[in-house]
Amino acid sequence: MKATIIGGGIIGLSAAYYLNEEGWEVTLLEKGDLTDNCSFGNMGYLSPSHFVPLAAPGIIGKGLLWMFHSKSPFYVRPLPRYELIDWGIRFFRASNRRHVARSIRPMADLLMLSRQLTAEWTTHEAFDFEFTGNGCVMYFQTPQAEKEELENAHTAETLGQKVEILGREQAQALEPELRPDVRGGVWFKDDAHLDPNKLMQQMPALLELRGVNIIRNAEVTGFQRQNGAIGAVRYVITDQYAEQRVAESDLVVLAAGSWSPQLARMAGEYLPLMPGKGYSMTVDTPRQRLRYPCILVEAKVALTPWAQRLRIGSTMEIGPVNDRILFPRVQGILEAVPRFLPGFLDDPAFRELADYDKLRAQMRKKVWFGFRPVSADGLPYIGFAKKTKNLMIATGHAMLGVSMAAGTGKLVSELAGGKTPGIDASAFSPGRY
Ligand SMILES: Cc1cc2nc3c(=O)[nH]c(=O)nc-3n(C[C@H](O)[C@H](O)[C@H](O)COP(=O)(O)OP(=O)(O)OC[C@H]3O[C@@H](n4cnc5c(N)ncnc54)[C@H](O)[C@@H]3O)c2cc1C
Repeated sequence: MKATIIGGGIIGLSAAYYLNEEGWEVTLLEKGDLTDNCSFGNMGYLSPSHFVPLAAPGIIGKGLLWMFHSKSPFYVRPLPRYELIDWGIRFFRASNRRHVARSIRPMADLLMLSRQLTAEWTTHEAFDFEFTGNGCVMYFQTPQAEKEELENAHTAETLGQKVEILGREQAQALEPELRPDVRGGVWFKDDAHLDPNKLMQQMPALLELRGVNIIRNAEVTGFQRQNGAIGAVRYVITDQYAEQRVAESDLVVLAAGSWSPQLARMAGEYLPLMPGKGYSMTVDTPRQRLRYPCILVEAKVALTPWAQRLRIGSTMEIGPVNDRILFPRVQGILEAVPRFLPGFLDDPAFRELADYDKLRAQMRKKVWFGFRPVSADGLPYIGFAKKTKNLMIATGHAMLGVSMAAGTGKLVSELAGGKTPGIDASAFSPGRY
């Protein structure tokens, strides 16, 4: 049986991994050359702690406040476009307690499954992507953020996750670089992190070794339909535009991240999803100042320490795909770091990065950005499409694509094979609208 996967991000690659394991003849079509996409420059967190969907009470109010602050971590580009308005209405409707209550269990199950499967990947010789299971700490400075984080911590405990609440002194002992006015933190001990750039280089190499046919620079342009299904996927090799090619398929997996709605439309499907741009910056650090990955809660800034490198990232700009870098937001990310971790101001690598004149001049080189595929209710779309029998959708993971990749790939292979999935996947059905 032949499967064609559209998109070589972490979701497409993970689907290829598990379909190949189940004996499918897999072709993966990627319009780029697999050296960059949203799955590369992200923070590399595996976050079972992030079981609350993005669409939750309070987000709309916070989002509106942030909209008017040029350095804030959230922005919606107001455009008179149907897809944005429709996405916004659905997001607004989903941001309620009932939606959160029924989403927490399926989100947590998928996140925990993925964490476990990603840990299993590390046992392959082909992989060495700095998987580290030492958790992630949420640090807060205000009573309001503390209250929200503690609520989250208690829910995590009821879900069976390992959590430690840190007071001011305990937080300071864990991470001596912290400012004394940081009120405390919540250490989610089941969280883990990896180096996504390494995973994204190593995974295609392993898949090709196992016989997956990865075609780079192959842009999907349409589908040949027959009897309510897709018979073949049409694509062009982007540097040879004249030549149309087809991949005959029994199963098509749409894993094209932020570009998925356009491709779904070509197949006659509707997928409410918007790109959510985020930035990151990475520096080489001979001396690592940070012991644990952490999120600076009020600033929504994340920091990931690897053996030799440190990555700082944040922001969610909802709007169409474009290559504009909003410099005040980049500056906002860097300014937040010493507000929690003042020792960074003595760090030569950080000081060099936070030299804003230099950074502005070298923005394209130093600032990475990627487009998170953000679904309209904060849950990913995983499962068969509404109208097209053999079209499987696997996208919409927003800020949790790495965290949910392995579990998503596993679900795709189980559903494709007609098996009952190991976890209940009904909440992720693309037909839920
Ligand atoms: C700053 C930032 C930090 C983040 N941190 C984390 C984190 O710590 N943990 C976490 O879990 N997630 C994180 N994320 C989110 C995560 O990066 C994404 O959810 C994930 O990368 C999405 O993967 P994907 O495979 O769906 O999409 P992508 O990685 O975008 O891959 C989609 C691919 O489809 C290809 N494609 C599109 N159209 C076509 C076509 N017509 N034909 C062929 N190919 C096509 C694209 O070229 C692309 O390569 C972060 C994101 C950002 C921006």
